[in-house]
Amino acid sequence: MGIYAITGGATGIGDAVKNRLRTQGHEVLVIDIKSADIQADLSSEEGRGWANSELARIAVDGLDGFVACAGLGPHVMPYSLITRVNYFGAKASVEGARDLVAQKNGAIVVVSSTSAVFDYEDNFLTLLHEDKEEEACAAADKLDGQTAYGAAKYALTHWMRQHSAAYAAGGVRMNAIAPGYTNTPLNAMAQASSEYAAAIAAYKASIPIGFAGEPEDQASAVCYLLSPEARFICGSVLFVDGGSDAQMRPGEF
Ligand code: NAD
Repeated sequence: MGIYAITGGATGIGDAVKNRLRTQGHEVLVIDIKSADIQADLSSEEGRGWANSELARIAVDGLDGFVACAGLGPHVMPYSLITRVNYFGAKASVEGARDLVAQKNGAIVVVSSTSAVFDYEDNFLTLLHEDKEEEACAAADKLDGQTAYGAAKYALTHWMRQHSAAYAAGGVRMNAIAPGYTNTPLNAMAQASSEYAAAIAAYKASIPIGFAGEPEDQASAVCYLLSPEARFICGSVLFVDGGSDAQMRPGEF
């Protein structure tokens, strides 16, 4: 049986991935700000460094797979925290796991979002691409939450695409899933608030397949991409969204 690590494995999609892998008999190391094997705050450089060094210490013989799932929703303030966790934290965790996954010719899955496909302001994206975290965070605090969130997912997905060939050459298959609306704690607070409830209900009603996703729907896609069944899939973005992206962008793929 294999050994896997996942960020954000305490709740929601990450928890479902963890449970699915454990049910398959694998060992799973959770990196999270709470309820974790490696407790770390991925919003800070210190926390990322701690997570990466602890992971290397524990998974000394390598990893069969790594999932970058930790993330904050678009309603979390300050919005710079979204930039720190969803882009800089996710990227640093993948970079930290790369050599461990290479040791076992394993796979990495990055958790993106359907919101990654929209156009975001070039100046902000440039700050992300150039790793200017403090400047990007200052800029994020002047944006709205949806933009900070979507731009972080856009940049993370582009980063995955740009690096997948080099990772593959080193023995690591890297892909992303792009979840659509999924019932998790990330959405629960917004759904319960009078400010967002109506918009969320309308969005959920628009999902072509007729229902919102559950964490297990995302977990099955992640575990498929991690598995040998997906051995020729590399650098792909798998939309797990009940048809929302196809409905919104029928001419794009
Ligand atoms: P969730 O809130 O249940 O899970 C997020 C996890 O990330 C939690 O375990 C949380 O503790 C952890 N986390 C948050 N901040 C952290 C930090 N600073 N350091 C370490 N860990 C931290 O939400 P979820 O919906 O399961 O989200 C998982 C991923 O899926 C996120 O990246 C999110 O952006 C993405 N996503 C979710 C949806 C959705 O509709 N739920 C849609 C698209 C993408």
